[in-house]
Amino acid sequence: MIHKYKLFDQNIVLDVNSGSVHLLDDLSYSLLDFDIAAMDTPTEEIKKAFSEYSGEAVEECFDELKSLQKEGLLFSEDLIDPQKVKNFRLDPPVKALCLHICHDCNLRCRYCFAETGTFHGERSMMSREVGFKAIDFVLEKSRNRKNIEVDFFGGEPLMNFDVVKDIVSYARSKEKEYGKTFRFTLTTNGMLLDDDIMEYLNENMSNIVLSLDGTKEVNDYLRPDTQKSGSYDKIIDKYKKLAKLRNQDNYYVRGTFTAHNLDFTKDILHIADEGFFQTSMEPVVLKEGHPLAIREEHLEQLKQEYEKLALEYVKRRKEGNPFNFFHFMIDLEQGPCVIKRISGCGAGSEYVAVTPTGDIYPCHRFAGEEGYKMGSVFDGTMDEAIKRTFINSNVYTKKDCGECFAKFYCSGGCHANSCLIAGGMDQPYKIGCELEKKRVECAIAIQALLAE
Ligand code: SF4
Ligand code: SF4
Repeated sequence: MIHKYKLFDQNIVLDVNSGSVHLLDDLSYSLLDFDIAAMDTPTEEIKKAFSEYSGEAVEECFDELKSLQKEGLLFSEDLIDPQKVKNFRLDPPVKALCLHICHDCNLRCRYCFAETGTFHGERSMMSREVGFKAIDFVLEKSRNRKNIEVDFFGGEPLMNFDVVKDIVSYARSKEKEYGKTFRFTLTTNGMLLDDDIMEYLNENMSNIVLSLDGTKEVNDYLRPDTQKSGSYDKIIDKYKKLAKLRNQDNYYVRGTFTAHNLDFTKDILHIADEGFFQTSMEPVVLKEGHPLAIREEHLEQLKQEYEKLALEYVKRRKEGNPFNFFHFMIDLEQGPCVIKRISGCGAGSEYVAVTPTGDIYPCHRFAGEEGYKMGSVFDGTMDEAIKRTFINSNVYTKKDCGECFAKFYCSGGCHANSCLIAGGMDQPYKIGCELEKKRVECAIAIQALLAE
């Protein structure tokens, strides 16, 4: 399978199965409109279609494309057998936890999928006891796997910071005995950051996600606090300090764009202009009818925004004033391993979320959702049927993914978007797909432009 597209005056061809990218001249690019994979020499139909070119030129381009085919760089076959991957991960170890350390929040973001921290339940905090049980759970369920990841999530995790610290100490105290290494991360809205907390985070968290939606106007509209006052002025300087202390590495300033800021490029550039090197911005995912939901009629504008962002991204890199944007940083040389490439994040099997009551869900997005509770850290159970549904979902089982050029970058999309928004595990979330495909196209085009 190939995907050909024109972007930024470049004729780009992605050979989906090999991951090879080719930049072609107009003639070679147009030749690919014909089924040349099945031909040995240019047909009469091709010669007629390209009569304005000399016969030699057509044959030369044709031969070059056929050489690429012989080398396995064009029209390459998919070597993965969909039947074989159906049960290819029989019982993977649990290697990552999302700890819902606090089901409460000091912000009232207008698009919050977690109902401003409650996840469809009561406002509550994870106790030390539950946190330690969660660590015991992952120590056992990770089996032979050495490295374990624990993400502190909320609500707002810093509202329960003492318990965060105790869980980190408890996990570290078990590392030697169990032969494990814990890697901690934390996502925060920044409201409670102070110098002591920053120092602790810098010593103990491998990565930190700092939530900010862009300009003051946009952020304050979307992310007010409990008193309906904007959060921007309360967090921006702390974020700058933290990013500096982390040498502009191992953090992300992460935003969400919504129907309110379809022109989100300006928000990302604002974040970069404020001196942040690591940026990320995700489209909001909300049920149809929510006033901030992305709708199909927004797609064209959003795609143009990604193009605008891509050009600015390249311009700044060439001028020596770069920033990173998470979705543009795809590795064309060496993507993730094949399992990740076809089945994504591992939610529901390798990665689970634990709520303040110790309940286990496939990931943070499913917390509190009826029908998705998998078990409890108190008895170590994990519902086999739910686990199997998640393990068996991959780009070969999801409708449309098998034929999608972006499948090895997207890995079949987010399970929560499929299950909670699109209507089922095998249903890709169409709006997300359109944006993902555009991001992949831009990311590839960026690499071509940077190589010029
Ligand atoms: S900071 Fe996070 S949990 Fe709190 S309201 Fe905003 S989106 Fe929801
Ligand atoms: S973009 Fe959509 S259709 Fe394509 S692989 Fe991802 S989820 Fe599947």
